[in-house]
Amino acid sequence: MRTESVSAPKHLGIRSHELFSRARNVFPDGTTRATVERDPVPRYVMKGEGAYLTDVDGQRFLDLHNNFTTLIHGHGFGPVIEAVARQLHDGTCFANPTAHEIDLAELLVSRIPAIEQIRFVNTGTEAVMFAIKAARAFTGRPAIAKIEGAYHGAYDWAEAGQVGTPATWGLASAPTALPSYTGTPKTVADDVIILRFNDARGAREQIVAAGRRLACIVLDPMPSRIGLIAPEADFIEAVVTTARQYGILVVSDEVLNLRQGYGGASVRYGIQPDLLVAGKIIGGGFPIGAVGGSRDVMEVFDGSSGAAKVQQAGTFSANPVSMVAGRVSMEHMTEAAFERLERMGDWVRGELTAAIEMRQAPYVVTGAASLFRIHPKRRMPCDYREAYTQPGEAASIRAMSRFFASEGIIFPAAGTACLSTAMSEGDLKKVVQVFDRYLAVASTL
Ligand code: PMP
Repeated sequence: MRTESVSAPKHLGIRSHELFSRARNVFPDGTTRATVERDPVPRYVMKGEGAYLTDVDGQRFLDLHNNFTTLIHGHGFGPVIEAVARQLHDGTCFANPTAHEIDLAELLVSRIPAIEQIRFVNTGTEAVMFAIKAARAFTGRPAIAKIEGAYHGAYDWAEAGQVGTPATWGLASAPTALPSYTGTPKTVADDVIILRFNDARGAREQIVAAGRRLACIVLDPMPSRIGLIAPEADFIEAVVTTARQYGILVVSDEVLNLRQGYGGASVRYGIQPDLLVAGKIIGGGFPIGAVGGSRDVMEVFDGSSGAAKVQQAGTFSANPVSMVAGRVSMEHMTEAAFERLERMGDWVRGELTAAIEMRQAPYVVTGAASLFRIHPKRRMPCDYREAYTQPGEAASIRAMSRFFASEGIIFPAAGTACLSTAMSEGDLKKVVQVFDRYLAVASTL
């Protein structure tokens, strides 16, 4: 099946091109974050409304991106807008605490079993960084382990081993802790052990070999960059049990996957982490990150009797706008709301898979709850190396994303698609129909 020649997107209009030519003067590569998709230029957005967004050329799209899975209620969710509008009048940031931070903290503590206490920051990157610092301070050890290919934001240690290619990722038994940028201090790689996802035996051996050098294992239960592959129970069991034997903390990075359920992803997969990192959905569309965990570990942030072991501050940390937006957004994510999203996700994944099977097309669908991903592969991948996008597959994904765009759907070319509570049955049907049409078109090329 050849897919490269599916025509360029019909819907990338002149205004996006004009804005991009201005942007190229003021931003390196014309964008201000590496993850902005472009084909060949980015689509500039004018506004979002519920499940849809409108670009600067006035064209409307169903949004399966939702800002990297952040907007669980879609765009412009009424209750959040009203609460934030009130808060704007009352003040957007203070050096003093507000009741709003306690409200959001209480909500999260009551839902997420791993969190007894919590601290708020502004991004997932920061939250992962503070979780790692907390683990180091608690254990007095420098090194961390993490999963090959998994994304945890931009802290040097959390980034290592994230960008491996077949030429650089090294032995399967000891993957390389590849730095993500030239000039990373060499000591970073010395203090990062890379485990392969779903390789229970390999993970156990590596954790045992590193032993008491490890402060923590950072584990995203379903890493998006690995392809939203389901974690195998024996892998989770091996990682957590071996960590316990050596006094290594388990950090569950649920910045993205907290959306998998009312209690988050660790509840779903039976993990009892010592620290849990959250972000995205808990800010209701505003910047946020959070690190929480058991009282004894969180004590490293306690500065009430002298300097805290880990100083965690931040000019905008726990700003009342993010706190209010997050609380209102999460209050509307009742257990019933999570269950509805789960059913919607099951239906979409099931129908996409049925379309693939009917046409015997070379694709597989992964994901859980409201998250899904379509891989141009015949076999279900089980780790980063298997999920790795080969050059031919990249063209196929681009072609599919273009086709979706030409049919009025934003489908993340390289990443994770997600549903929001704003989506209707009709929206979901449209996703499946467009995919089925794409398979029909692609098979004739
Ligand atoms: N961890 C995970 C699992 C993520 O998915 C992300 C963001 N995609 C981050 C950390 C970093 O979060 P942020 O972009 O808010 O810094």
